[in-house]
Amino acid sequence: MYYNQDSVLFLDGEYKPANQATTDLYGQTMHYGYGVFEGIRAYPTTNGTRLFKVKEHYERLKHSCEMYNIPLNYSVEELTEITYKVLEHNKLTDAYVRPLVFCSPNMSLTKPVGVSVMICAWAWGAYLGEKLLRLKIASFCRPHPRSIKIEAKVTGHYVNSILATSEAKDSGFDEALLLDSDGFLAEGPGANMFFEKNGELYTPKTGNILPGITRASVLELAEKMGIKVNHGMYLPQDLYNADSAFYCGTAAEIVGVASVDHVVFGTEWKNTLGKKLQTAYSQLVREEESVLAISN
Ligand code: PMP
Repeated sequence: MYYNQDSVLFLDGEYKPANQATTDLYGQTMHYGYGVFEGIRAYPTTNGTRLFKVKEHYERLKHSCEMYNIPLNYSVEELTEITYKVLEHNKLTDAYVRPLVFCSPNMSLTKPVGVSVMICAWAWGAYLGEKLLRLKIASFCRPHPRSIKIEAKVTGHYVNSILATSEAKDSGFDEALLLDSDGFLAEGPGANMFFEKNGELYTPKTGNILPGITRASVLELAEKMGIKVNHGMYLPQDLYNADSAFYCGTAAEIVGVASVDHVVFGTEWKNTLGKKLQTAYSQLVREEESVLAISN
């Protein structure tokens, strides 16, 4: 699904067939989940294949490494150039890119001694599908920001995401919604959230969430479109009483929410601010005309 006999990935300075690339089973990331990664999308545009907000993604990768004492000796420019080469090797124009920084063999619980860098890419449709999501508020909360550094995109943090997603799916829902450890709305397992009430948007403030790059794009678009966005600490009850809601993330892009814990939103998706932003976002990433009109 992610690679075949023709796929090529980048690993520590070399472009290799994906099915011949190997790793060390004694690595710290493998045993303790101590590694850092990113998810970036490439889109076909009139200016050729373009990685959307690649600088922001690689700056976040570097920042995640710094926060976790992971020594990464690549610049944003080098990582960007390598990523475009990976896309070319695989003849991909519409793709999801997964850079992973993983740590060398080290069985002790000390700072990593060395790292490897892997960058691969594959064609991937909307991660959460195109249909409106039926969400379940998870019994698991997001990790407390004093337990981990929530702003970093770290492999081990996703144990929490997998638990929440599995719980939601096992109970017949499409996706989970996690609260923070005080019971306020936080985010999805791999996406940020917004909800709409009386013509304004609301989104959980930073502090207990991964501050997403798509969330930042939504904030920029909302400003250009004259939509007011409130940042705060909101309760599940606020969401149950909302008019509509959506998730946003690089892999998921912008996807509407139908219901939360079986409470169905009153406004039809086609009439929501989320739908307008979904259209604008799709044009922005593909560098299409009408977004230029918005930005003027
Ligand atoms: N929250 C979590 C937990 C995520 O994994 C992601 C995906 N990276 C996001 C939010 C959205 O972030 P972005 O828009 O930068 O992809």
